[in-house]
Amino acid sequence: MSEEPAKGRVLMLDMEPELKSDVPDQACCQEMHNNLRNSDLYLGYNKRTREYFIPYKIDCGGGVYLLTYCPWCGKLLPGSLREKLGDILFDELCLDDFFDDPNMPNEFKTDEWWKKRGL
Ligand SMILES: [Zn+2]
Repeated sequence: MSEEPAKGRVLMLDMEPELKSDVPDQACCQEMHNNLRNSDLYLGYNKRTREYFIPYKIDCGGGVYLLTYCPWCGKLLPGSLREKLGDILFDELCLDDFFDDPNMPNEFKTDEWWKKRGL
C-alpha cells in the first residue's frame, strides 16, 4: 500500500489565488454548516467549484484535500464542479484565466453559474 496521498483528491494551493472558505446555502447537516460558518476547524467550502476540503499544513506544501463524504453525518457530498467550470470557461467562453479573466461574466465568480444550470 502506498503512503502517498490520493493525488486525484488534492489541489495544490498555488492553483487558487486565495484560500478562503464560503458557507453553502444548504449543508448536509447542522454540524457541517456550523463548522464551516465558525471556521474553528481546518475545513473549507468553495462555492464556485462546490468543493468541500481540508487544507494541508503549509509546511507540507500547501493545497487542499477534497472531501467526498461529510465527516459528521457520513453523507456523500455533492461533487466538485471544477472540471465543468473549466470546460465552460475555456471551451465555451474561450477565456484564458480560470480565476481572473477580465472577460469572465460575474456569474462564474460565485456559485451562480451552477445553480442557474441546475447542477
Ligand atoms: Zn453532514
